[in-house]
Amino acid sequence: MKPRLTVIGAAGRMGRRIVAMASESGQFEIVAAIDRQGHPDMGKDAGFLAGVATLKVPLTDTCPTDADVAIDFSLPEAIDNTLRQCLENSLSLVLGTTGLNREQRTAVETAAKTIPIVHATNMSVGMNVLFSLVGKVAAMLGEDYDIEIVEEHHRLKKDAPSGTALTLAEKICEATKRDFAGCLIHGRSGKDALRQKGTIGMHAVRAGDITGIHSVIYGTAGETITLNHTAHSRDMFVRGALRAALWLAGRQPGLYAMTDVLGIE
Ligand code: NAD
Repeated sequence: MKPRLTVIGAAGRMGRRIVAMASESGQFEIVAAIDRQGHPDMGKDAGFLAGVATLKVPLTDTCPTDADVAIDFSLPEAIDNTLRQCLENSLSLVLGTTGLNREQRTAVETAAKTIPIVHATNMSVGMNVLFSLVGKVAAMLGEDYDIEIVEEHHRLKKDAPSGTALTLAEKICEATKRDFAGCLIHGRSGKDALRQKGTIGMHAVRAGDITGIHSVIYGTAGETITLNHTAHSRDMFVRGALRAALWLAGRQPGLYAMTDVLGIE
């Protein structure tokens, strides 16, 4: 039987692609398309909004009780409601929303004791391979290589730095035993902004319609290595999210990463 899917943030850029690609895949039954109360497209057909065939699923602000799995690409302020609705209705959850604060991440961890959740700041295969590489490269290069992360996104992105850039930094910190909270330098300006050894520079560019570019720069006297990931469209995030939603069927409660879904370390 096809998993019954609820899409949260269904009127957004990611949500519309989730609806479109889930419906085109034929692997899901879309039972609900949810967005914030008062959204101007409330009541319109989710398929129409996504630019595909009509689905007879109107955009709503209420979670149905008959779904199996929810995919949430919305905003951090939606998370309490998403978790409550998933817990009340025993839904699995694929959570792609970035910019969650510590409290919200703890709430996700708590909910994962009861329902299975895949939470990933980036659902693409390529980026998850990069996640597993950046720490190893940092550890192999050693202390004499300065590390800077540059992320570039479209002008409408709200959170900065991107969740993906923070995950890249976390992976480097884990592998090199840096203190994540203490070593990030966000942007750099002023007359006393000399680079401090061991820090990781973090830079957020916002311009036009860039889907997402992440570069990790390792530099020392004499050479620079740059690992770069460029997203050409949102579709590979969506493919990852749909793969995660299928993978969740029948899983035990727990907080899973995209590397679990993809089977990579
Ligand atoms: P967007 O602003 O286009 O869409 C967000 C949607 O969420 C909007 O339609 C908005 O009305 C809706 N929303 C706001 N509050 C809500 C609520 N309380 N309940 C339900 N819906 C609500 O943003 P986007 O570009 O689609 O990105 C959405 C999120 O996904 C962001 O956090 C972004 O960083 C993240 N993202 C993650 C990945 C990944 O691979 N994990 C990839 C791309 C984007």
